[in-house]
Amino acid sequence: MDYEAVIGLEVHVQLLTKSKIFCGCSTTFGGPANTNVCPVCLGLPGALPVLNREAVTMAIRAGLALGCRINPQSIFARKNYFYPDLPKGYQISMYEQPLAQAGRIEVRTGERSEVGNIVNRKRKTFRIDRVHMEEDAGKLIHDGSHDGSGRSWVDFNRSGVPLLEIVSEPDFRSSQEAYDYMSHLRKTVIYLGVCDGNLEEGSMRCDANVSVRPRGADKLGTKIEVKNLNSLRFLQKAIDYEIQRQIKVISEGGTLTQETRLWDEERSSTFAMRSKEEAHDYRYFPEPDLRPLEINEAWLAEVQSSMPELPDTKYARFVSEYGLGEGDATLLSASPDWADYYEATVAECRNAKAAANWMITELTSELKNAGKTIAECSVTPPRLGELIRLIDTGEISGKIAKSLFPEMFSTGATAPVILCRKGVSQISDEGELSRVIEEIVGAHPAQVESFRAGKSKLFGFFVGEVMKRTKGQANPQKVNELLKNSLEKF
Ligand code: ADP
Ligand code: ZN
Ligand code: MG
Repeated sequence: MDYEAVIGLEVHVQLLTKSKIFCGCSTTFGGPANTNVCPVCLGLPGALPVLNREAVTMAIRAGLALGCRINPQSIFARKNYFYPDLPKGYQISMYEQPLAQAGRIEVRTGERSEVGNIVNRKRKTFRIDRVHMEEDAGKLIHDGSHDGSGRSWVDFNRSGVPLLEIVSEPDFRSSQEAYDYMSHLRKTVIYLGVCDGNLEEGSMRCDANVSVRPRGADKLGTKIEVKNLNSLRFLQKAIDYEIQRQIKVISEGGTLTQETRLWDEERSSTFAMRSKEEAHDYRYFPEPDLRPLEINEAWLAEVQSSMPELPDTKYARFVSEYGLGEGDATLLSASPDWADYYEATVAECRNAKAAANWMITELTSELKNAGKTIAECSVTPPRLGELIRLIDTGEISGKIAKSLFPEMFSTGATAPVILCRKGVSQISDEGELSRVIEEIVGAHPAQVESFRAGKSKLFGFFVGEVMKRTKGQANPQKVNELLKNSLEKF
């Protein structure tokens, strides 16, 4: 029998607010454990939560970008369960009336061929069920790993950090679609400035719900939830594994029961964590210490008017406005940092194609070698733009430009400064260049004849020879001019 996979994703997004969702404690990480805490986020009796307006604004921004309806009123609820990282004994979340609902996003996706590349590219719309706000829990550190005692520790710095939960409808039919949706979400929240998108560090966490059914069936199969997938690759592998596992169970006559599983990267498989019988009954009820959250038209309009350009719009604009190919446009719109750097460079040098090439080749390779991000790059857009302008005006050759770039990158100096320092000067002297050109023309009579007979492509050969002879230091514009004169005269 032929089976079809059905997948839905629940994604937790950590919002980039300065302070926590219900108190004024800082959200910065990396400090000593239990330093960014107060009675509210430690869950001490009698401490009252106060909602952070910035967190709500970020949540609205995300809801709008995901095509959701923002509810005029949403309600915080207590989700009750016991765990040592949850000092209150409940998490404040949203349940029956979430912040935003009924969204849809269009995602560029495709199918993965047997050799691993993406084929049958298409755009597909995936529906979002709901987007709600909640607080994060603390962090458990097991095994006394830092002191070898075998004890567990808890750090409440993360307790009360604002999260957004984005729940999709079960609209994905392959791990590739889930992967593409997740990577689209990631790009979107980064562009919106609401999350840093770092999966490995837990700023985005994903649970995948996977089921299979006979192809063509209407009824959904039993869903298995695979929790805490902290990379796009694990997400894809875990879904693929689950699909195969479930098909095997069913086709051997077995039945699946609803359960929660975890991904084991070492064994490349999922394993059971708890069954449905062990699932929590959270006894949700409206949070009595918080009023319903009212979002009026003015607030919505304010957020709407400050929405940045989203990744797909930027991608399309890069193709139409700068004439970039799909590959280049995808790379350069991958993050706002790259996109902004690109546009600033183009504004400087007015050469969209060259700016793209320099970023994708030279700049990418230097960044990679140095282990730096583009935001940390010492070659600023005006400096790269200046370098490209120097090539375009014929003041230096492309070859010299490339030789300057590593030093520009490591020292932060401008191209003219390095040119001076290195003593690399252009040969622009017409007498000197003419001498070289006459020599080369004289040494290649056969090529000269072919050129004159109409093989105009040979012009490049002569330019190449001149450049070789001058170690790339000849002024390219002058070479073109003089070479033309010399070859065309009889
Ligand atoms: P629960 O009540 O268990 O939380 P929901 O209906 O709220 O379940 O769905 C949670 C997530 O699971 C959603 O992303 C949804 O799209 C997905 N989902 C629900 N049913 C299935 C199914 N049969 N197969 C795959 N995913 C599913
Ligand atoms: Zn606090
Ligand atoms: Mg649910």
